Amino acid sequence: MQSRQMEPKHMKQNLTDPFGRKIEYVRLSVTDQCNLRCFYCMPKDFKDYEEPEHWLTHDEIERVIRAFASLGTSRVRITGGEPLVRKNLPELAGRLSRLPGIEDLSLSTNATRLTTQAISLKTAGITRINASLDSLKPKRFKDITQGKLEKVMEGLMAAKEAGFHPIKINMVAMKGINDDEFEDMVEFCIEHDFTLRFIETMPIGDTGRNAKKYYLSLREVEERLSKRFELIPGVMPGGGPARYKQVAGTDLRIGFITPISQHFCETCNRVRLAVDGTLYMCLGQDHKFELRPLLRNGITDAELQDAILHAITLKPERHEFNEKPGQVVRFMSMTGG
Ligand code: SAM
Ligand code: SF4
Repeated sequence: MQSRQMEPKHMKQNLTDPFGRKIEYVRLSVTDQCNLRCFYCMPKDFKDYEEPEHWLTHDEIERVIRAFASLGTSRVRITGGEPLVRKNLPELAGRLSRLPGIEDLSLSTNATRLTTQAISLKTAGITRINASLDSLKPKRFKDITQGKLEKVMEGLMAAKEAGFHPIKINMVAMKGINDDEFEDMVEFCIEHDFTLRFIETMPIGDTGRNAKKYYLSLREVEERLSKRFELIPGVMPGGGPARYKQVAGTDLRIGFITPISQHFCETCNRVRLAVDGTLYMCLGQDHKFELRPLLRNGITDAELQDAILHAITLKPERHEFNEKPGQVVRFMSMTGG
């Protein structure tokens, strides 16, 4: 790979992929482990974790994100697996939020450990939280995740008290599993001043493919909700790929994330860094670039920037969840949702 050391320093390069999309957002998976087992994400008996020595250290993660920031990335979302099972996450978050150029550091979590960590995460500079919640019924929640709903509720309230706003609830909409709860979830989010986002199931890993039978197009969900609530056009700053509606007469915004029924690849602005240092170019494709060997072989900062610039040239135009549903064998927890 050719180094850019001869380039004048002021020629800062931005990350633009071959399809002209500016890459300004990194989703950072800090672990592939999780304390829950949502059936559409991780197999119940999943123990085949990457060994921690293959995980990037906090220093290595900080170095990669610093390089991204120097190339124009301003937004990072910490995800996983469950990020709060990674040791000393607030310390890592603090280091990332202080990096020059990083303007928005957010977190995706199952909320079970927010009770003890919400305040330190806020102090560390996390600005926004997304939390998974597929059911408000304790028994059903347990069937879906193997976890306790009560822990999630406590975690969400702790996040609210710590001052996080907005808190976005992510609900995977599944036919025959939780499709009798959409209206209840809307009411719950109005009551607690949360934002609600529905997600379509994606065929990622065997678990995701097995969940295909529960797939529900969010057009149907929206149609159904509009019978009970007046939905007006809504906007949400930093809304990402979700299309938003607002419930008239309330502050509630409802986002619809439709990777299957209506893909949003033409505006994709992100790449994903897995905990083992693999940079995945697309959630629904295998295009990737391994950073860990380079990081552990004494790569310079300029060479790291070059490696990232090269990696971005590998970004595919779009996912092919519909055309090639068997494509992605890795589990969602490796790359984050
Ligand atoms: N553990 C955290 C959480 O649950 O929010 C962060 C990681 S999780 C992989 C991120 C998101 O991916 C969650 O909202 C989860 O519901 C979603 N997800 C996982 N597997 C999925 C699948 N097969 N289809 C659609 N969404 C999925
Ligand atoms: Fe864990 Fe999140 Fe996957 Fe559920 S969706 S198993 S909480 S990583």
